[in-house]
Amino acid sequence: MVKSVLEYLENSAARFPDKKAVADDKSSMTYSELVNNARNIAAGLLPYTERRQAVPVYMDKSCHTLALFMGAVMAGCFYVCLDPSQPAERINMILETLEAKLMVVDEKSAKKQAKLGFDGHVLNIDELMTHEVTEEENEKLAQIRSEALDIDPLYSIFTSGSTGVPKGVIVNHRSVIDFIDCFTDTFNISENDIIGNQAPFDFDVSVKDIYSTLKCGATIQIIPKQLFSFPTKLLDYLDDNNVTTLVWAVSALCIVTTLNGFEYKVPSKINKVIFSGEVMPIKHLNLWRKAYPDAMFVNVYGPTEITCNCTYYIVDREYELDETLPMGKAFPNERVFLLDDDDNIITESQPGTTGEICVSGTAVTMGYYNNPEKTDAAFVQNPLNNKYNEIIYRTGDLGYYNNDGLMCFSSRKDFQIKHMGHRIELGEIDMAINAVDDVVRACCIFHQDANKILGFYEGAADKKTITHVLMQKLPKFMIPQEFIQVESMPITKNGKIDRKLLLENYIGGENA
Ligand code: AMP
Repeated sequence: MVKSVLEYLENSAARFPDKKAVADDKSSMTYSELVNNARNIAAGLLPYTERRQAVPVYMDKSCHTLALFMGAVMAGCFYVCLDPSQPAERINMILETLEAKLMVVDEKSAKKQAKLGFDGHVLNIDELMTHEVTEEENEKLAQIRSEALDIDPLYSIFTSGSTGVPKGVIVNHRSVIDFIDCFTDTFNISENDIIGNQAPFDFDVSVKDIYSTLKCGATIQIIPKQLFSFPTKLLDYLDDNNVTTLVWAVSALCIVTTLNGFEYKVPSKINKVIFSGEVMPIKHLNLWRKAYPDAMFVNVYGPTEITCNCTYYIVDREYELDETLPMGKAFPNERVFLLDDDDNIITESQPGTTGEICVSGTAVTMGYYNNPEKTDAAFVQNPLNNKYNEIIYRTGDLGYYNNDGLMCFSSRKDFQIKHMGHRIELGEIDMAINAVDDVVRACCIFHQDANKILGFYEGAADKKTITHVLMQKLPKFMIPQEFIQVESMPITKNGKIDRKLLLENYIGGENA
């Protein structure tokens, strides 16, 4: 039984020592180099760490970052990737939550780090990587390894909290192994794959890239983030690096199609496109499928708190613009179910009935680091089980079954509004606007103070046409009171439409 993700790395290093494990635009590491670098780093960390302690990694993603993740784990710790471009205040809140005693920087991030006011140890990645391991350190590392448990934490990823204080989801080896084994089997990921990494390393979509690679002996090709502003360069990069697999945020896929990237080039090796994070607009999915008629397209769903994803749907037919793309079925060894407002289960025999999506299984994470209140609010005893302890995660997302028994995403609970006495899922309006000709992407927001629904959209369509089309599809109370054309949708760092910024710009602008 695989107990630690380090076994993924070591098994692949034994099978393919000289194969490229990880590459970025500047450098690469083979499997044996990755193991050796990680071991040097682990030994270098020993004087500064205790077991199960956080190792904050304050640097941009690169081959070195991955070596550092593995080194932290070999030292018996868990890693927390922090993005140096984030405001110092947020980074400091995270360091405080972690009670961090050290952090690791690279040459580029050192200057920014110096401004944080952090009073623990600051270690440099280059020095750690060139540390020479002594016999004594080797023995210590072996002892750490032999005493490790699969429920020891592997990483923490901080998501934005509703109070403004970030919450650190804490994830153990067992959850990741449980999920990655299913993920790689279900989508036939193998040593022949080159995975084009889009997601930041402090976002859990990257967990799929990293551990699918290490488990299968594949290669992770880190894509420089600036390429996502230049689709032609991005497509060249994917083609030049023979990328086969994309595990990307929906918005990243939409960037390519919005700017008609495929008219320039269709990278030749891509055969798997797995997307998540938001509802995939059918218009964009269809353009991708047209470019890759033989590739596998998969809609995967789930929050960080359940380790990446809990449901998947392999697209098996053409979808019309006004159809809903399902999120499908649960991955093996996960139970995904719907509860109504009174905590009664909603079954597949009640298609169309909406409830909160709840998840049970080994991949449910250990809660929020150093935050028992928030943990207890979301990670709760299964209300359907009063016989033994069974912790489930309440996602705060709403879903329903379609007529084929497949789960579909409705909206976040927060996006379900009461307007003019009606319960409205804003996602349903988004979908209707998205289907209008010449709309590239749409997003509706409820403006609480003004008591109106705002329909933001990108594309050349005129407002009259949109209203006219919507009148044919939606009840009057669901038609936005105002349409706002934007040049391009603001996107958060994690690749979702930035609703907060859209509304702020609206309120701050002349529309207010
Ligand atoms: P995160 O924890 O940042 O990955 O965000 C998870 C949230 O993104 C989920 O709770 C959903 O609200 C949304 N989400 C993730 N995947 C999908 C999907 N395939 N379709 C619609 N919404 C999604």
